Amino acid sequence: MKNEKEHNKELFIVEAVIGIAATILVIFVIAMAALLIEKQPWMSAGLIVVSVVAYIIICLGLTKMEQIVGYYECANCHYKNSPKYGTVLWSMHFGRTRYLPCSKCHKWSWQKKVL
Ligand SMILES: [Zn+2]
Repeated sequence: MKNEKEHNKELFIVEAVIGIAATILVIFVIAMAALLIEKQPWMSAGLIVVSVVAYIIICLGLTKMEQIVGYYECANCHYKNSPKYGTVLWSMHFGRTRYLPCSKCHKWSWQKKVL
């Protein structure tokens, strides 16, 4: 039986693979739609809209996955925070490091994701 840390590492790998695949796919679909734009302008626009909406939905799902797996460690007091989805979604971030408030010391800091 796998422990929680190993399970969370696997979920992070799945999240990264889905994110990279979705990004490549949306770029490919938009490039194909750009090639079709003179012959089929409405079809091109439809392809772009559908692929961008699907990409946004996938990104929202992946953010949910990131939120529920592991914790965000406060840079000031090292408390392991579990912020709400909306807080994670709207926070500035670089990779999985997010600018969040700490629920213990209430200071804002760049919090790294820890498993
Ligand atoms: Zn703190």
